[in-house]
Amino acid sequence: MAAGKTSLEAKSPYELRVNLGRDMPESDVRSALASGDMGFLHSFTTGSTVDGPGVSVVAWTTGCMYRCLYCHNPDTWTMSNGIPVTVAKATEQLRKYRQGLKVMSGGFTLSGGEALMQDRFAVKLFAAARRMGIHTALDTNGYLGDRLSDEELETIDLVLLDIKTWDPERHKKLTGMDPEPTLAFARRLAARNRSIWLRFVLVPGLTDDVDDISQIANFCAGLGNVRRVDVLPFHQMGRYKWEKLKLNYQLGQVQAPPPEIVDRTIGIFRAAGLTAY
Ligand code: SF4
Repeated sequence: MAAGKTSLEAKSPYELRVNLGRDMPESDVRSALASGDMGFLHSFTTGSTVDGPGVSVVAWTTGCMYRCLYCHNPDTWTMSNGIPVTVAKATEQLRKYRQGLKVMSGGFTLSGGEALMQDRFAVKLFAAARRMGIHTALDTNGYLGDRLSDEELETIDLVLLDIKTWDPERHKKLTGMDPEPTLAFARRLAARNRSIWLRFVLVPGLTDDVDDISQIANFCAGLGNVRRVDVLPFHQMGRYKWEKLKLNYQLGQVQAPPPEIVDRTIGIFRAAGLTAY
């Protein structure tokens, strides 16, 4: 698939996209990432009601350092799967939605992949959105939060933070990485009074341990800046991507969590004093 033939817009992030930036020389990729003048995007999608307040326009970045067993979009793991896009072009795309977003009290969300793999691009896009008066949200696993300066954090109205699980060993098995940088980022956001919406993916057998969820709930309640918790039930919509990419998908037999387990999980967050859905 050639980048020139693929639209930046997609119906949803579940469209499989691969190799769209593979022709860009390695040295150009490095300088693009360092300057932030260019980034790599899976796509833009519109109309989301789950990725920020109101209705969001979401730009999905490519590149992720996690390897979550339940990842719905493993094509976004590899930066060169994305379309190389200048910050000017991405800004122009966003400008098209500006009026609509105002009418619908919506905003712009940068998601991924892991958006902070392209932190300079992210910073430039957020600054551009701000100049247009658009609400800004960053959907992140928080692992690279220290790449953003305090001033840069001020350009982000809302952080949608994913805490995958609490126990460090379990976290490492689930994602391949240590949870502490995410927790440190959450504490820093709290210290600077930046709003967080927690996103918690509920996967039977992997993230449904009651004690583990309680630890996350208590941690978040103690922060004081977690305005909302979204419990996201696991589903199999990304499964075909694992198969197409010939990746070893281990969750083929895992079902979506039953409603009573979803309710129980929401209840744990609410019992800690949080607003949870
Ligand atoms: S952090 Fe997100 S994009 Fe990265 S592997 Fe996990 S679910 Fe996938």
